[in-house]
Amino acid sequence: MDYAAATPLDPDVLRQMQPYFTDKFYNPSATYLAAKEVRKNLERARADVASCLGAKLAEIIFTAGATEANNLAIAGVMKQNPGKEILVSAIEHESVLEVAKQYKHRFIPVKKSGEIDLSRLEKLISSKTVIVSVGLVNNEIGTIQPLRQISMILKRSNILLHTDAAQAPNQLDLHVSRLGVDLMSLNGGKIYGPKQSGALYIRASVKIKPLIFGGGQESGLRSGTENVAGAIGFASALKLSQHSRKKEDERLSSLKKHFIAKLEKAVPSATINSSSKTTASHIVSVSFARQDNERLMMQLDEAGIQVAVGSACSASDQEPSHVLKAIGLSDIEANSTLRLSFGRQTSLDDINELVAILGQLTTV
Ligand code: PLP
Repeated sequence: MDYAAATPLDPDVLRQMQPYFTDKFYNPSATYLAAKEVRKNLERARADVASCLGAKLAEIIFTAGATEANNLAIAGVMKQNPGKEILVSAIEHESVLEVAKQYKHRFIPVKKSGEIDLSRLEKLISSKTVIVSVGLVNNEIGTIQPLRQISMILKRSNILLHTDAAQAPNQLDLHVSRLGVDLMSLNGGKIYGPKQSGALYIRASVKIKPLIFGGGQESGLRSGTENVAGAIGFASALKLSQHSRKKEDERLSSLKKHFIAKLEKAVPSATINSSSKTTASHIVSVSFARQDNERLMMQLDEAGIQVAVGSACSASDQEPSHVLKAIGLSDIEANSTLRLSFGRQTSLDDINELVAILGQLTTV
């Protein structure tokens, strides 16, 4: 019940990756034939990623996951535009917030649903604003942001839109023009691909500065010998997740609906923090009145069910979640909240078992 933190590697993805650890180990920048073949396969993986996003080959930079992609997107744009300002939504992942804090920044407030407040966004925009960063799917409450509407506001002032889409590919469309984004971060570890793999999409017209210097790989934006197996694994995982996304979204939506209906009966004092229309089908945030989420998480763990208190993607700090606070929860409510997240292996039986155990644990 913690697929938003990590997903198991798809066996097909593993098969695609395996030759690049052994027979096809060559450095893609070497000039002999065997290495050129590896380069060709790396570029094919880039083309596959580009095609999933409706992007061009040169617009895809492979990275080691979403943290790096977010850092490259934000620091890259801010270094290119010294003295300018970034606006970030108050519920972004730490890998967006912490890099934004290195520059002149302001936060965009969100509504109770977690959606950013468009009228407040319009008021925050100034002549100094160069980029806005809003995640497509929030990793704690699952809110899907109205990126298209946001991009229409930003286009009027020539402001760039970056989105951290790490939690989106298993269910949602990633076409960059339909979404209206200029930069998009992706992550292999959330889509049944390898951890420390991912990509940053950068629209061709957008100029950014690199964070890593060296041999000039990845169009000079990410020097270092390419992680060929990782890039190939990421591309094949992305293709598979985009191929099955509609079916998976339907299946998870019905599991989520079933979970909420059963939970409301078994634990009437539970509050769902994810409003159903605008949240992704794999994430449910639930507050359990008068319960301590850490204790609940440990009791569930003992019963063989793994869940998250807030987000597992951040190091274990004791502060109540900034996401839950931003949507209006008190410290006590935030500290009684669990994040449950479903995935390809989650079955109806798993959901029934989860609700039964939650019922027992919260009524004793
Ligand atoms: N962005 C979001 C929305 C996430 O859920 C995560 C989860 O870890 C990340 C970024 C960071 O990904 P990684 O730690 O794999 O770089």
